[in-house]
Amino acid sequence: MTEIEALQKMVDESRRIVFFGGAGVSTESGIPDFRSVDGLYHQKFDYPPEEILSHGFFVSHTAEFYDFYREKMICLTAMPNAAHRKLAEMEAAGKLSAVITQNIDGLHQMAGSKKVLELHGSIHRNYCRKCGHCFSADEILRSQGIPRCTCGGIIKPDVVLYEESLDSGTIDESVRSIEEADMLIIAGTSLTVYPAASLIHYFRGKYLVLINRDPTPMDDKTSLTLHGKVGEVLSQIKV
Ligand code: NAD
Repeated sequence: MTEIEALQKMVDESRRIVFFGGAGVSTESGIPDFRSVDGLYHQKFDYPPEEILSHGFFVSHTAEFYDFYREKMICLTAMPNAAHRKLAEMEAAGKLSAVITQNIDGLHQMAGSKKVLELHGSIHRNYCRKCGHCFSADEILRSQGIPRCTCGGIIKPDVVLYEESLDSGTIDESVRSIEEADMLIIAGTSLTVYPAASLIHYFRGKYLVLINRDPTPMDDKTSLTLHGKVGEVLSQIKV
């Protein structure tokens, strides 16, 4: 049996599949991840990306934060790829109960997925810190310098920055979904960003599948590990 046939058999036998993904799910849509050789962490900036994307930096260097955020985090031309589309198809067919994502790009929703748990927030929501008014990613992209609300408040992306905690409601729902899943597909993540990566340990179901281009700490702890591109792999699965 090939790896794809093995994956197909597991999908066929499962009723409550949960997908847990990271930046690698969107690289086939043209959005760079963080840790690959062509990822953001290997590009040269005035400050390391971890520092720019921290709460402290947002507060102390807001203009520089927004230069980076507009140029590297907001990518409104990206379209869902085969992985996003297949997951939406699996949900519509009643086989997949949730997509849990570390991504902030909104591509799962664009592909038609309904139950998307965004652990790290979304570039598509940006709130005024004073009055709470919500601004779109496009409005932030078109703004200059430090974006401000008409009330004068500074706008902050609804993105979880380093030093900030994750939304507890989203964590609880993610844990519940994983605990109730009979199959967990982990894909496109280096599994090095915590606490997100720790959520997969709540899985008690039958099939644990990992699809990732590069090795991860979970490679030898699964029912099936495929080293490849998640879009190319999932597009071969029939729902
Ligand atoms: P990461 O950059 O640490 O790791 C990405 C992993 O995906 C790597 O192991 C790489 O081998 C793999 N990968 C890359 N392309 C792939 C493909 N086509 N198919 C299969 N595997 C592929 O990403 P992470 O673990 O998600 O952690 C980075 C953090 O950065 C996350 O918290 C996320 O919020 C954020 N981020 C988000 C986006 C986005 O929204 N698209 C992009 C970059 C970073």
